[in-house]
Amino acid sequence: MALITLLIPCYNEEESLPRLYEAVCAMAREVSDCEFEFLCINDGSKDRTLQILKQLREADKRVSYVDLSRNFGKENAMLAGFDFAKGDAVVIMDADLQDPPSVIPQMIAKWREGFDDVYGKRLSRGDDSWLRQRFSLLYYRLLQSSSKEDVMPNVGDFRLLDRKCIEALKQLRESNRYTKGMFCFVGFKKGFVEYERELRTIGKSSFNFRKLFSLAIEGFTSHTTIPLRVATMLGMVVSLCAFVYMIFVFVKALIWGDAVGGYPSLMIVILFLGGVQLLTIGIIGEYLGRVFTESKRRPVYFVREYNDSLAQN
Ligand code: UDP
Ligand code: MG
Repeated sequence: MALITLLIPCYNEEESLPRLYEAVCAMAREVSDCEFEFLCINDGSKDRTLQILKQLREADKRVSYVDLSRNFGKENAMLAGFDFAKGDAVVIMDADLQDPPSVIPQMIAKWREGFDDVYGKRLSRGDDSWLRQRFSLLYYRLLQSSSKEDVMPNVGDFRLLDRKCIEALKQLRESNRYTKGMFCFVGFKKGFVEYERELRTIGKSSFNFRKLFSLAIEGFTSHTTIPLRVATMLGMVVSLCAFVYMIFVFVKALIWGDAVGGYPSLMIVILFLGGVQLLTIGIIGEYLGRVFTESKRRPVYFVREYNDSLAQN
């Protein structure tokens, strides 16, 4: 019988977990021709998440948990999940029930049809604000136009991955992780199921504007080097303009002589060039910073405990 791992990153989810457990159990009863493993990654929660996971494990051996040594963020928690998952297929889902478990049987059916990566396509964006939706669309359009591999809008991490994909993803061990880009990078046969994203009714989202912004930057810098190319182009255009202007100033001085003055234009040029230089240095810095963190080759996460046994790191 096929074993399906539900990979659930949990960060301060004490309120959602009991309801999540019930929901996935109900779903598992429906799919009688598969076995399930509920693999919860406790990403350094500060509440009773770990205790609840231990209780669930006590009562039901289908529940497994990995307790990370601190909060590493969802992206890293997912890699930990890939490493510990035993299933023939892995379904990544959020702990807050925003990804409805009732969609999983459809994903499994698609998987049986031969798709390796069945992603959930959101029909609506739940409780996201109008502004967040606009930003998100614009962002994906930019990201798509800047790279070969498509990162799809309205597709989250909720998806079923075949063992093949998991083995591939396990090899991508960079510390600056943008998992959504990695799903596209590894390729394999993709299919999708559509679903309605639920509102988050319990607990609260831990992705604030700052976290989303840095994830967005991560998306670009880990997925494409187009911004560097844009910086080069900008440099070329500005130099060309400067060159034309230089000739203009030179010829003007030759013909009409130089009556000093020109303070405003001088200021404008200096300020503009200064701005462009800072911007491009900033872009280069973003990439350099990533080269710095990658070059340290640090492990992406540390495990404190796996199913009652303390880890020997
Ligand atoms: N999460 C995590 N580590 C973090 C932040 C979030 O493992 O540092 C988990 C969280 O428990 C949830 C999932 O990632 O299962 C999605 O988080 P959230 O619901 O806060 O994000 P949103 O749905 O708003 O994108
Ligand atoms: Mg959520």
